[in-house]
Amino acid sequence: MEKADRTDMLSAIDTRSLVDKVEMNLVEYFTRKALQPGDVIPKEVELAAAMGVSRTVIRESLNRLKTMGMIESKKHKGTVIKSPNLGSLLQKSMIPHILDNATLKDIFELRLVLEIGIADLLFTHKTPEDLEELTHIVEQEPEFSEDVLFDVSHEIKFHSKLYEMTRNETLRNFQNILLPVFNYVYDSGLINKPVKNIRYVSHKGLVDVLKNGTPDEYRVAMRKHLENHFQRISLIEKSGKETS
Ligand SMILES: [Zn+2]
Repeated sequence: MEKADRTDMLSAIDTRSLVDKVEMNLVEYFTRKALQPGDVIPKEVELAAAMGVSRTVIRESLNRLKTMGMIESKKHKGTVIKSPNLGSLLQKSMIPHILDNATLKDIFELRLVLEIGIADLLFTHKTPEDLEELTHIVEQEPEFSEDVLFDVSHEIKFHSKLYEMTRNETLRNFQNILLPVFNYVYDSGLINKPVKNIRYVSHKGLVDVLKNGTPDEYRVAMRKHLENHFQRISLIEKSGKETS
């Protein structure tokens, strides 16, 4: 009984590594052939014969590529190459509780960089309706409080609207994927060190710059808005050095 169990485990591992190899081979083959989105790939049976593996292994490898959004099945056409959706690729690995603190911190930093970096897109694409909506969001926020960091729902509403205003689908997807990680970071206490923000720019201040300012002024204002986050990150880094 015990022996049979062991053998089962071994064959399972073997199949998996074979699927891995076939998956890699397929991606290499698509690249070498310079296949474009919409191009048909060879049939399951042809791939199996060419690679000398079973159709089951081919099917499993193709399923993985489907999950990644690299290929899709089309009626009357077969399986075709698809432009992968970056968002769906990332989403699969964005499970906050299995990310280590260093990665969470990296993602948090990435968000800060994006918030400042989208300035030009905002000024290029902003509409009077956008600005009106932002103003409305700000009006619903509570009066300025010291504890800005923990007002998460208003933070998300305001900043999500900014990403929407970039009219960049990938950025918006990115924001949706990163959001659970921000919530996790807020909750985890990873960034709960108290800081003094002497240069704070409020959401209302940011909207004023969006209405009447320039991209450069916006970058400076957003950097100040995020000052407490930047301070917290530098505190984590210091405490990390002390303990290690
Ligand atoms: Zn904010």
